[in-house]
Amino acid sequence: MAPAAAGRMADWILVGGTVLTGDAAAPRAEALAVKDGRIIGVGDRSLVEAMAGPTTRREDLGGRVVTPGLVDAHGHVLALGFALRRVDLRGAESYADLIRRTVDQAGKQEDGTWVLGRGWDQSLWQGRAFPAHRELSAAVPRHPVLLSRVDGHAALANQLALTRAGINRDTPDPSGGRILRDARGDPTGVLLDNAVGLVEEQVTPPTRAEQLAALDLAVHHLAALGLTAVHDAGVGYSPTLGLDDAEDPGWGVVDLYRELLASGRLPIRVYVMLGGNGAYPPEDSVFARPPVLGEGDGMITVRTIKLGVDGALGSRGAALEEPYSDQPETRGLLTRDQETLDRLVSRAMASGWQVAVHAIGDRANRMVLDAVEKARREHPRVTDARPRLEHAQVLRPVDIPRLASLGVIASVQPTHATSDQRWAAARLGRERLEGAYAYHSLAAAGAVLACGSDFPVESANPLAGLQAAVARTDAQGVPLGGWRPQEALSPAAALACFTTGAAYAAFMEDETGRLAVGMRADFTILDGDPLTVAPTALAGLKVLRTVVGGRTVFPAATP
Ligand SMILES: [Zn+2]
Repeated sequence: MAPAAAGRMADWILVGGTVLTGDAAAPRAEALAVKDGRIIGVGDRSLVEAMAGPTTRREDLGGRVVTPGLVDAHGHVLALGFALRRVDLRGAESYADLIRRTVDQAGKQEDGTWVLGRGWDQSLWQGRAFPAHRELSAAVPRHPVLLSRVDGHAALANQLALTRAGINRDTPDPSGGRILRDARGDPTGVLLDNAVGLVEEQVTPPTRAEQLAALDLAVHHLAALGLTAVHDAGVGYSPTLGLDDAEDPGWGVVDLYRELLASGRLPIRVYVMLGGNGAYPPEDSVFARPPVLGEGDGMITVRTIKLGVDGALGSRGAALEEPYSDQPETRGLLTRDQETLDRLVSRAMASGWQVAVHAIGDRANRMVLDAVEKARREHPRVTDARPRLEHAQVLRPVDIPRLASLGVIASVQPTHATSDQRWAAARLGRERLEGAYAYHSLAAAGAVLACGSDFPVESANPLAGLQAAVARTDAQGVPLGGWRPQEALSPAAALACFTTGAAYAAFMEDETGRLAVGMRADFTILDGDPLTVAPTALAGLKVLRTVVGGRTVFPAATP
């Protein structure tokens, strides 16, 4: 590296640590120089220090480790926001503790909006009696509150929620449910089974302001986990999230992101997929408009249509070629037929939109590969379409090499492997398990892997994802020795999956994913080296800082 010319003086240099560059030829450096949101130097300390001028901010890393910014290539951001807004009552030690936690959440929400929570268990409390709503209602008078018990078969409502549901001393118990009452016959607020539904049906879908608040909460949560970008895997029709316009494939959520960006509340880059898993084709409303490429200096990109082909493996909705091993009368279900899939993949390829298809079962995955193969033949001049298989969870061994030959990206979620290992063998049987969660086999066959988590189904913590990929255990180290460890990725391959692979899946490999001169200054500072710690210690690494475009977004920007 040449010494800095006068005009190339760094804004910021970081020295005295380890910089994992993501570049196979020179994987480690000592120091990093940043200017105008981009990296202008990476290498030895002395070379980077030569880029410092009188106004350069200088920082000693103290032996800490800088990695390229971690990316979650598949998550559901708005759903995460609402999950984070639910009061977590697991482990609440007393009724007073439950009230404290609920008051805390209510204070963050506008009056009149629903405060929802779950996880309380009165058997942990002194006296072990069911609570009565009066103390809660006094503490939270202006928000309707509904808090589910840990088992989901009971809930506690406050007075405002009872009033909205029209529940009073004269309300009869619904069939299959009970309204608990005190000695005077007044409802105590505790509702059992079907009685919970009386209040639940009053819970209003979130307003736009609540959506914006949820999205804001989620993107800051992700920044705190060390993520510098996220791929939002489908922002279309979803009434429970307040996305109730079936004709809108997700432009409404894009506008929410724009609003966050405009108000300085978007800390990380978002790569938005329109559509979703639903069967409806929002195709015209997608393909009629050009993709949005890097709005706001690379912060918002919308260039993908998300489609679904099947369901999930746990509920036996994943479409398999052969019947389920533990339920021989079913092969799962398809949410889209081959012809529709072919048309959508072909149309996307012709119109400059990337296609990302949810496929879990081996039949669903094969259908997507077939569709891509046909579309490639129809559009031989489209050479860089980068279609994505979201999940790529169960593949016939014969289909695994097709990902590389067709240029299909495997967008995988390593924590699914460690969560699903409890029942995957029962669903699939020993032989089919060979092609399931087969990350090493996919990588060895030449496929590009992009890693994510599918939050809020799983935790969004990318370090737990790294551990699942490398150790094939959950964050607690279960199961011992790892599940099907022959499919583990090396630490370098797993880190690449969460960085360069995810960047490639978003057409951003020349901008992010590596720490090299000219790249955007997106990086994560950790207290240990993910390439050398014990695989089962990966989830325990601490994120000290998240930097996006040269700007620290965590901890500074955390609300
Ligand atoms: Zn998903």
